[in-house]
Amino acid sequence: MPEVQALVGFLRARAVDRVIARVDVPGIQVLKTYDPPVTALAGLTVTGVSRHGKFLDLDVSGLHLVVHLARAGWLQWKQALAPAPPRPGKGPLGLRVHLDDGSGFDLTEAGTQKRLAVYVVRDPALVPGVARLGVDPMAAEFTEQLLAGLLAGVRGQVKGVLTDQSLIAGLGNAYSDEVLWQVRLSPFKPAANLSAEDVTRLHTAIVDTLRAATGRAEGLAAAALKAEKKDGLQVHGRAGQPCPRCGDTVREVSFATKSLQYCPTCQTAGQPLADRRLSRLLK
Ligand SMILES: [Zn+2]
Repeated sequence: MPEVQALVGFLRARAVDRVIARVDVPGIQVLKTYDPPVTALAGLTVTGVSRHGKFLDLDVSGLHLVVHLARAGWLQWKQALAPAPPRPGKGPLGLRVHLDDGSGFDLTEAGTQKRLAVYVVRDPALVPGVARLGVDPMAAEFTEQLLAGLLAGVRGQVKGVLTDQSLIAGLGNAYSDEVLWQVRLSPFKPAANLSAEDVTRLHTAIVDTLRAATGRAEGLAAAALKAEKKDGLQVHGRAGQPCPRCGDTVREVSFATKSLQYCPTCQTAGQPLADRRLSRLLK
């Protein structure tokens, strides 16, 4: 989510007040809506850019181009786009937006998961994933009391609660690993069993981690954001490397399409976690 927030700033500076000249959709599977048609965006001015959880929202004179990049999706800004339409096919390019000054951007997805999703809607709340979003952890309403209520009200492990977009919007797999490592909590600890002190520390860590990541990401070119995210992470994606705090080896629990990382010494009293315990937790 900090990377999406940074993309918002990046696009505001470049796309707002520009007119959309054309939209090419070489990867038709990325487009999840058909009414209004994507062609309706042509000729309209981009009037705003915002974020809902991990969704990017371009306000195009009242129509909304809403993008969920998913894990392998990305936005590539081009100062000068080739005018010829790209050939449809199986490449990474899903959708291309041409602006009236010749600049524009590509929405691409690496790999084979095909989860990049683009919606053209009259109201962003019509996007199913946006309608379901829980509280934004960067918003003022995300207080310690609110977090305490969320955690107390669910059956489930703390990792699952932190990554459930219908409870907390935009924290995600990577930053929840970072936060749990910060506060030395096992990802498998039942959320309802956290002490008041745990909740206080967790709340502080969530806000601090996202603020720091957003601060690092702001002002970076879109192309540099993914590398910056990786560099800023302490345990996520670092299985096999030493924990930066205690030197123990960072371990990992794998699922079908993703994995979590943690430090046994810092978070689970030295005990490695078994994979099967979390198999139904992450969707
Ligand atoms: Zn450690």
